Amino acid sequence: TVAPQGIPAVAGAGLSVPLVTGGEIGYANLDHAASAPCLDAVRRAVDEFLPWYASVHRGAGFASQVSTRLYERTRDILRRFVDARATDTVVFTRNTTDSFNLLARSLPRHTSVVVFDTEHHAALLPWRGPNVRRIPAPRTRLAAVSAVDEALAECPQGPRLVVVTGASNVTGELLPVAEIAAVARRHGARIALDAAQLAPHRRISLRELDVDYVALSGHKLYAPFGAGALIGRADWLRAAQPYLAGGGATKLVTGEADELAVVWNDGPERHEAGSPNTVGVYALGVACEQLAAHWDAVGAHEEILLSRLRKGLAAIPGCAELRLFDAPVDRVGTVSFVVDGFEPGWLAAVLSAEYGIGVRDGAFCAHVATKRLIGVAGGAGRQAVRVSLGLGSTTEHVDRLVLALRQIVARGARWEYTKQDGRWAP
Ligand code: PMP
Repeated sequence: TVAPQGIPAVAGAGLSVPLVTGGEIGYANLDHAASAPCLDAVRRAVDEFLPWYASVHRGAGFASQVSTRLYERTRDILRRFVDARATDTVVFTRNTTDSFNLLARSLPRHTSVVVFDTEHHAALLPWRGPNVRRIPAPRTRLAAVSAVDEALAECPQGPRLVVVTGASNVTGELLPVAEIAAVARRHGARIALDAAQLAPHRRISLRELDVDYVALSGHKLYAPFGAGALIGRADWLRAAQPYLAGGGATKLVTGEADELAVVWNDGPERHEAGSPNTVGVYALGVACEQLAAHWDAVGAHEEILLSRLRKGLAAIPGCAELRLFDAPVDRVGTVSFVVDGFEPGWLAAVLSAEYGIGVRDGAFCAHVATKRLIGVAGGAGRQAVRVSLGLGSTTEHVDRLVLALRQIVARGARWEYTKQDGRWAP
């Protein structure tokens, strides 16, 4: 199904939610950056596949053959989705967090890692050891590239990896990935791209960006939870200890008792032990195919909504948007903000209960970034409200949010909400 504006339709488009004042309202899901709703096409494909799923690789039965074919086909879909090199490997994981943990465990000994401290925790925390350099993110794109350059110059000899996000999950701003990749290359370093937020919004080309690894999550790409991928250079992954040990990761186990000898697989199966998430992987592939066929419409849809949203927020008294960079940069449809005098958690609760609008509040698993950027925006505290647009968003959703914020600010914090288990509720 294709929505009127030429974008793929989402399955949750007609959902209604209860209001505290009684009655129901169409759900305005403005939280795509946390998890995007499933596409209609994905839902139908999964529904057709469910009666057929079976264990991959190990069964001779017809259903096993179907599952294996679809599972393996999805590696090719993902390779095309990120325009990977023919030699790149596609390892299926649970999500971006899992992908970066796999990469972290696969680094050659003494690999130096350079990463901005403003990254999402999934990209910030998996790297361990004395050779990890967490650098403060500068306020201009040019300075960000120079900061990576300087950090790499100070790294000891040996393998090096730069980890950078494509689009910030806090501000939606795009990082200068190609420029950072060029710097990495000059230093003989590799670069890993956190595409959790970029991939649902923009076509990615590992070849054009000259990026070595990319990590992404199905649930942010309009497929259900549980499947993600790490795509990139095969050599470190092939040489690493299996991420999980068990069936499927082995070619051969010989001997017995204490004399056991294991020959591990060389391919992506090396890191995919256990029965894989066949349905989730299939769904991820279908979602990627849908996005790849509609990039122009997806971009146009988001651009219209984002400018409407930012214009609306700019007119709210006391509302300040969080930004990584001083100058405007290319960005996806994610905006975080604080409103002077209003607690973000309370605002999000009122938006949900009184207006049927779903947003996120908090520090977005990027605690360093959120706290620092609130300070730069002229606020205090560690938490903000985040609005994130996607294929389930409409102009009505955006207008409802802006109107709601205007009303809330005009009325002041007069809704009587109480905090239960750490969250505000009517
Ligand atoms: N990186 C970024 C930029 C993200 O926004 C997220 C999810 N919020 C992740 C990584 C982690 O994704 P997941 O929770 O699917 O592992």
